[in-house]
Amino acid sequence: MIPNSEVQSIMKRFPKFEDSFIGLEYAPRLPKGIIRETKELIAYARKFNDEVVRPKALLLDKKTHEDPDYLPYDLMQTASEWGFYTMWVPKLFGGRGKNLPSLSPVVEEISSACVGIANVLAVHYLGLTSLMTSFNMKVTNRILKEVVEGERKGKPCLIAFAITEPIAGTDVEDNDLVDKGRVTCRAERVNGGYVINGRKVFISMGQVSEWTFVFAYTDLKKPSQNRVDFVVRTGTKGFSVGRHENKMGQRVCPANELIFEDCFIPDDQVLIDAYTIKKFTDKPLGEVMQRHMDYISSSSKAGVCAIGVGVARGAFEDALKFASETEVRGRLLINHEWAQCILAEMHKNVTLGRLAYMEANHANSHRGIYELLQMKPMYYYLKFMPSLYFRMLNPMLNTGLTTWAMSKMYYDMKKTEDVDCTSGLSSLAKFAGTDIGVRNCQLAMDLMGQAGLRHDRGMEKRLRDAKLLQIYEGSNQINRIASFKGLIAPVYPQTRVFEQ
Ligand SMILES: Cc1cc2nc3c(=O)[nH]c(=O)nc-3n(C[C@H](O)[C@H](O)[C@H](O)COP(=O)(O)OP(=O)(O)OC[C@H]3O[C@@H](n4cnc5c(N)ncnc54)[C@H](O)[C@@H]3O)c2cc1C
Repeated sequence: MIPNSEVQSIMKRFPKFEDSFIGLEYAPRLPKGIIRETKELIAYARKFNDEVVRPKALLLDKKTHEDPDYLPYDLMQTASEWGFYTMWVPKLFGGRGKNLPSLSPVVEEISSACVGIANVLAVHYLGLTSLMTSFNMKVTNRILKEVVEGERKGKPCLIAFAITEPIAGTDVEDNDLVDKGRVTCRAERVNGGYVINGRKVFISMGQVSEWTFVFAYTDLKKPSQNRVDFVVRTGTKGFSVGRHENKMGQRVCPANELIFEDCFIPDDQVLIDAYTIKKFTDKPLGEVMQRHMDYISSSSKAGVCAIGVGVARGAFEDALKFASETEVRGRLLINHEWAQCILAEMHKNVTLGRLAYMEANHANSHRGIYELLQMKPMYYYLKFMPSLYFRMLNPMLNTGLTTWAMSKMYYDMKKTEDVDCTSGLSSLAKFAGTDIGVRNCQLAMDLMGQAGLRHDRGMEKRLRDAKLLQIYEGSNQINRIASFKGLIAPVYPQTRVFEQ
C-alpha cells in the first residue's frame, strides 16, 4: 500500500487528478436507498413504455405529420395519471420526492422507446429546476403547489423554460458571450414589477405549459450584468404564443415562439434580480446569474445525455433484434463477424454514455446542486418523514429565511472550482451522450439496409429525433468549449475561452 501522505503528494502534483474520478470519490457516500429507489423507478418506466409509449410512438409521429399543429394534451394527461409530473418534486413542496439523479435513468428508459414522449415528461423538470435553483422559495413554493394540485385534480400544470431568442441562442447561456450577442428581450422596471417586451423561440412545451420561466434584460447593451429571471403564467395580458415549429424530429413535443408585448410581471413573480440578490450577497448580479445558469444546465445536460443514451440503446436493441431475425447469404446476420463488430460498437457506446451521465450526476451530487439533498442523513430524513410533517413545515418556505439560507449557501459560499467541475462534466456528458445517440442510429441504419429507412420500423424516426439533441441545451460545439472551460482551462490559468 502507498502511504496516505504519498497519495496526497501525488494528488498535489496532478491538481485535476481527483476531478477525473468524481464517481470513485462519491460512490461510498451514496445512500444505499437511492440504488433501490432508482431500480424501482426504472421498472416503473419500463411498464410505462410497454403500456403507453411503444403503442403510441409511431402513431403520434404520423399524426404530427398529418397535423403539424397537434398538441400532446392526451399524453400529458396520461403522464400526469402515472405521477410523472410530481415524481421529482421534493416532498417539502408536496411532491413525491424521488432522488433527482434518478430522473436520468428514467429518461434513458423512456427515450429508448420515444424521445419526443420522453420530452413531454422531462421538459417540465427543466422549468422546475430553474425555479428551484433560483432558491426563491416563496415563488417556487407557490408554483409547485399548483403543480401538485394540478396532478390531484387531473389537470396537469407544467413549467416551460424560455431563454432562446430569435438571434441569440448559444449566447444567452454564458456571460462571456451574451454581451457580444444580440438579445432583444427587454425588462423595464416600473412600480410593482417589470414590463417585458421581446420574443423567445423554439420553446419546448411553451404552448401547453401553465407557467414559463424566462430571462429578460434591463439593459440590452450590457445584458450579462442586467438580467431578470421571472415566471409568467399562460394567459397573462401581453403574453401570447406565436409560431408552432414544424420540426424534423421529436414532433410530439411542440416547440413554440413566445411573444411579450408590454407584458406586466409583478414583483411576486420575479425569481432573481438586482434587488433580490442584495439580501444575501455583495457579489455582482452577473456572477450570481451565471451561477444560476450553471446550476440549471449542470442538471439538465446530464438529463439530455441520458436522452441521447436512450436513443442509442433503442437503436442498438432494434438492430440486435433485426440481426437475430434476418438471414444474409444463408446465415443469420448476427453470425456475420462484421455485424458483430457493429453491434459491439453500439453496445460500447451505450455503456460509455451511461458512465458520462452518471459521472455528471455524481458531480452534481458531490460538489453541485444536489449536494444537500443527497447527503445520507438528509436523504433518509426526507424519505421517511410522513407527508403531514412536510405539510406542517411548508409555510416556513414563505418566510424569507429559507431563501436567505439556501441562496447564501449556493450563491455566496459555494466554491468556483466546484461549479466549474460540475458544469464541465455536464457539458462533456451532453455532447458525448447525444453524439452517441446519432452515431448508433446511423450504425443501425447501416446494418438494416432498406428496412432502416421505412417509417414502420421506427429507425428513421429515431435518427430524426436524435439529431435535435445535438443542437439544444447548447450546440455540441459549444458544449465542447464549455467542457474545456470547466475542466481543462482551470489547470492552465493563462488560457482564455470565448474571447473571439
Ligand atoms: C427541438 C428544440 C427544442 C428547444 N427547446 C428549447 C427550450 O425549451 N427553451 C429554450 O430556451 N431554448 C430551446 N431550444 C433552443 C436551443 O437551446 C438553441 O437552438 C441552441 O442553444 C442553439 O442556439 P441557436 O439555434 O440559436 O444556434 P446559434 O447560437 O445561432 O449557433 C449556430 C452555430 O454557431 C455555433 N456557435 C455559436 N456561437 C459560437 C461560439 N461563440 N463559438 C463557437 N461556435 C459558436 C453553434 O455551435 C452552432 O453550430 C430548443 C431547440 C430545439 C432545436
